[in-house]
Amino acid sequence: MSPSFAASPFDSWLADDPEIASLLTREAERQSTTLQLIASENFTSPAVLAASGSVLTNKYAEGYPGRRYYGGNQIVDEVEDLARERAKSLFGADHANVQPHAGANANLAVYQALLEPGDTILAMRLDHGGHLTHGSPASITSKVWRFVSYGVSPATGDADKPGEVIDFDQVADVARRERPKLIVAGSTAYSRIIDPMPFREIADSVGALFMFDAAHPAGLIAGKVHPSPVGVADVVTFTTHKTLRGPRGGAIVCNAEFAKAIDSAVFPGLQGGPLEHVIAAKAVAFAEAARPEFHTYAANVVANAAALGRSLTKEGFRMVSGGTENHQVLLDLRAFDEELTGKEAQETLDRAGLTCNRNTIPDDPRSPFVTSGLRLGSAALTTTGMGEAEMQLVGELISRTLRSRQDDAELGAIRAEVRELCSGFPPYPTLVTT
Ligand SMILES: *Cc1c(COP(=O)(O)O)cnc(C)c1O
Repeated sequence: MSPSFAASPFDSWLADDPEIASLLTREAERQSTTLQLIASENFTSPAVLAASGSVLTNKYAEGYPGRRYYGGNQIVDEVEDLARERAKSLFGADHANVQPHAGANANLAVYQALLEPGDTILAMRLDHGGHLTHGSPASITSKVWRFVSYGVSPATGDADKPGEVIDFDQVADVARRERPKLIVAGSTAYSRIIDPMPFREIADSVGALFMFDAAHPAGLIAGKVHPSPVGVADVVTFTTHKTLRGPRGGAIVCNAEFAKAIDSAVFPGLQGGPLEHVIAAKAVAFAEAARPEFHTYAANVVANAAALGRSLTKEGFRMVSGGTENHQVLLDLRAFDEELTGKEAQETLDRAGLTCNRNTIPDDPRSPFVTSGLRLGSAALTTTGMGEAEMQLVGELISRTLRSRQDDAELGAIRAEVRELCSGFPPYPTLVTT
């Protein structure tokens, strides 16, 4: 049975703009009928959607609660105070700044708060999983600060000790040699727990500050299935839209001693008026993440990624670092098919209704545009209620799709099965009637 999206609310909300209304309906349909496996995506609650689509988008509020440059901010002050209090309580932090428009802005603000231009930052190599803001030549970060890097240990080929985990000897060596003023932990494509303690010890041994970029695992930390870097690192940045399941945005929590510097770096250092509608939605997400159900969710995210990894391993794929301890599965496609690139895999999976992204793997022989890897995530599908049985099936669907690259009929059949699977797990059952 094919779902019908006749009951999407967008047609009535956007009655005067049928072009955008129809695009929103089509995107709601895409999200509801294909499998969302992008590791940095999730489905927010309807409450988060409502807050981010609210009248708060009309309000200018440059400054911070109680110290605004515009009038009329009594209510907005209460919104932002609530968001800050909820963030502090969720992560057990002294101070929170909820204004960064995105994770990249949060990182930029921290660099600006703690460093002078030209200072040295030690962060993860981009081709081993570091983020653009960790010193990509294409990012403003590398033009203002001097980056040096660490990576993961080499793959060993030994199933018991596979390697490809953060090489702390290398972190310590580079730190001793380069004397960075800031050490950054955190990654965009890494399937293991990142323990903040060894980073803290290395930072202390060379007199560096320590920032933990928790963009990906923030929800796993809030859900208490990963160790918290709060109180260990000097500053923790995160996005609110990945595993934390809130609106698109960024935030920073830190020790009291850095509060003023961080706030000034975000505004007026980097941004103008804050997005108070998004801040309200962040507040909603922080409250949701404090509930016991969210702890269960976080545990299920990790269990589901492990189940997906087991299924794919059985199908002949190799997981980078030999496994997963978070929401990500990073696949080395070469073990499955030497000829298959990340680019072709992503494009073929898209045709079958499985949405994911290609990714470099450590020491990838192919270019970042082509790659030999695929990054998958379990956070969004877990939100829809899928469990380990569905993950097993998704692994099989991925394998079948990638073995049928030239077979349009088989890809069409898989697309129909994906649609059928999705119809049992609608992300917005109360909003979009299928
Ligand atoms: C996603 C991500 C960011 C940036 O988030 P945006 O909201 O896309 O700017 C920063 N650091 C890491 C490690 C990330 O994965």
